[in-house]
Amino acid sequence: MTVHVVGNACLDTLYRLQRFPEPGETIVADGMAEDLGGKGLNQAVAAARTGTRVRLFAAIGIDAVGEAVAERLAAEGIDTAGLAWLDCPTDRSMIQVDAAGENAIVSVTTCADRFAPPRGTGLDAALRAGDLLLMQGNLRIAAVRDCFTLARSRGAGTILNPSPIRESYAPVLPLTDLLVVNRGEACRLGGDADPHRAAQTLLRRGVPMVVVTLGAAGASVLTAEGRTDHPAPAVAAVDTAGAGDLLCGVLAGLLDRGASVEDALPVAIRAAAIGVSRPGVLSSFPSRAEIDAILPASPARGGATR
Ligand code: ATP
Repeated sequence: MTVHVVGNACLDTLYRLQRFPEPGETIVADGMAEDLGGKGLNQAVAAARTGTRVRLFAAIGIDAVGEAVAERLAAEGIDTAGLAWLDCPTDRSMIQVDAAGENAIVSVTTCADRFAPPRGTGLDAALRAGDLLLMQGNLRIAAVRDCFTLARSRGAGTILNPSPIRESYAPVLPLTDLLVVNRGEACRLGGDADPHRAAQTLLRRGVPMVVVTLGAAGASVLTAEGRTDHPAPAVAAVDTAGAGDLLCGVLAGLLDRGASVEDALPVAIRAAAIGVSRPGVLSSFPSRAEIDAILPASPARGGATR
């Protein structure tokens, strides 16, 4: 089976700060680093490192960054046939990380905004029954709705990580098989200060399963049957940027390999713990060998029932 990630790809520029600047204030960063990123690309790479087949559908510019994106994906073994090359600069994000490891992000999204999948992307021809379609919040809600509708018509599963939240997701919740949200997203979408109560509201709005990520506290799975809490290992967090993408991509990859959510989530949490204990976003992600090493003997290794 294949994980089709439909989303964005960009160049991330990361600044290390003691603290975030106040409005109107200029501060000097302790250092900076550049890496390719974007939630679509990050999640595609994380999924591919579980050993499953991944194709990324994303818009990039006809420029050096776009070329670097295509080369990087190919090096990760990700199918690049879904890349749409547009006559504009490839999207960029500025990520600030403070001394406590907290992050704040600003993005320019021209390519993502012009991208209108599934139209003209080849997703229609690529989707097969049993595949998974994974989308994030970088694309317009109409694109998510149209891609998920197509996936449903093909018998493919749908996973939504609605980050960043830009619009109402109410129209796509009934088309979503698995919703992955962090604490803030759960509270905002579910309209409740308690993330678990908020997730229960989202279940009532038509999603059969919600994973709520809770930072150092791990993550919970909620369905109509109840809730399971999965703790995260205690690690010294150096940089939490990208932790959500890493968890989401690994989770999708393992589901595609046949694991259940309850089996895949603890592995995704362990993978995310490795990521937060190292600096950077993509550069902090565990390698294929590191993910292999944290897989249980079964069911995720070698595939089991979904
Ligand atoms: P980000 O926006 O920083 O990428 P997020 O806000 O989307 O992340 P979080 O809930 O903060 O999502 O983190 C995702 C997962 O990463 C958590 O469920 C947890 O498994 C892991 N994680 C995050 N922070 C820590 C930490 N300090 N220690 C261990 N694991 C962590």
